[in-house]
Amino acid sequence: MYDVIIIGAGTAGLTAAIYSARAGKRVIVIEGSTIGGQIATSPRVENYPGIMQISGMEFSDRLFEQATALGVELEIDTVVGITDNGGIKTVTTEYGSFEGKAVIIATGVKHRKLGANGEDKYSGRGVSYCAICDGAFYKDKTVAVIGGGSSALISADLLSDGCEKVYLIHRRSEFRGEEKILSGLRAKANVEIVCDTVVDEIFGDEKVTGVTLRNVSTEKIKNVSLDGVFVSVGQTPENAAFSSLVELDEYGYIVAGEDTKTSSEGIFAAGDCRTKAIRQLTTAAADGAVAALAVCDYLR
Ligand SMILES: Cc1cc2nc3c(=O)[nH]c(=O)nc-3n(C[C@H](O)[C@H](O)[C@H](O)COP(=O)(O)OP(=O)(O)OC[C@H]3O[C@@H](n4cnc5c(N)ncnc54)[C@H](O)[C@@H]3O)c2cc1C
Repeated sequence: MYDVIIIGAGTAGLTAAIYSARAGKRVIVIEGSTIGGQIATSPRVENYPGIMQISGMEFSDRLFEQATALGVELEIDTVVGITDNGGIKTVTTEYGSFEGKAVIIATGVKHRKLGANGEDKYSGRGVSYCAICDGAFYKDKTVAVIGGGSSALISADLLSDGCEKVYLIHRRSEFRGEEKILSGLRAKANVEIVCDTVVDEIFGDEKVTGVTLRNVSTEKIKNVSLDGVFVSVGQTPENAAFSSLVELDEYGYIVAGEDTKTSSEGIFAAGDCRTKAIRQLTTAAADGAVAALAVCDYLR
């Protein structure tokens, strides 16, 4: 029996693990995919207090090392549900189940799909959702990044360092991402910014060879030849597995305030997976600490 079962080994989950273990609790973290979560895919983090610059991978490694050094256990598996049997929580995974007195859900968010024709067909064959993971495959090639937020701008910036040409395609005329990154992209000779434009189709043979673009103002269609498409159109929470126990909002985020308490006693939600305004490393880490200390209170 664990004192606390933490679902997700991102910044929120691992911070919660560190605080829980330091409070003397028996802790297990269950991670379905990547230790470190989203940030493991980021080439550079420059806004975490006390660290001038660090790669997302190194940041993740450090968090993981700190948690395991404190005796936190890790299980690589995907959680498919939680049941509450008179206070004892059973967390069910694809390959087993774990019992705990409290649960912290720290499942973050996942990349959203574009919804263009051909996207699924060419996923992994030219369509990617992660520039840092797959960017190296496109050295000296032509790619498009689709999106208008910070992730899209960061992806375009990263790809422009190695690719011959990068199209940044956005359906609106204004970008939501950071102005500093955008002005850097505008200054790069190998970056072409295409606004008011959507991708109607991703086409190819064995692999992607191009996209069909449509200008939403003029309805003019044009095909652009390229080797890869990086979809960066936002993220979506995946909390359906917990919906029978905890309340979700209309977008699928777990309803929980700054105290990280959910609608279900003994179940807490930390990081990007909960309802909040700012989704960053600092806020994820803060949630992890708050959730762990709330668990300690709950267990007392
Ligand atoms: C490309 C990129 C760059 C970024 N750069 C910055 C930056 O420079 N500075 C900054 O502050 N923020 C940055 N962010 C945002 C930051 O990464 C997130 O706010 C932060 O990672 C949220 O942490 P989290 O622990 O809540 O969630 P996540 O990091 O998403 O971790 C959640 C973890 O839970 C796991 N999980 C999900 N469902 C299950 C399940 N059912 N069973 C088991 N495991 C599950 C996931 O696999 C994942 O590992 C960036 C994000 C991206 C995508």
